[in-house]
Amino acid sequence: MTRWIIKCTRCGVEKQFNVAFDLTIYGSSIWLYCKNCKANTEHKVLGFIDDDTERFIHFDEAVTIKFRSV
Ligand SMILES: [Zn+2]
Repeated sequence: MTRWIIKCTRCGVEKQFNVAFDLTIYGSSIWLYCKNCKANTEHKVLGFIDDDTERFIHFDEAVTIKFRSV
């Protein structure tokens, strides 16, 4: 599981999104249901929380890490 931090572009609420796959393959935004907006809205992917260090990894850095590991 990766703890991604995403932000609804309509209401601006940030939330944690736990998924077992790499969100960077979809680009920097995904469409998800927002409880606040009560609709499917575009969410900006801000980054993720690194499990080992508990550090927030910015999206741009996440993409770089991904490319490095390939
Ligand atoms: Zn929203």
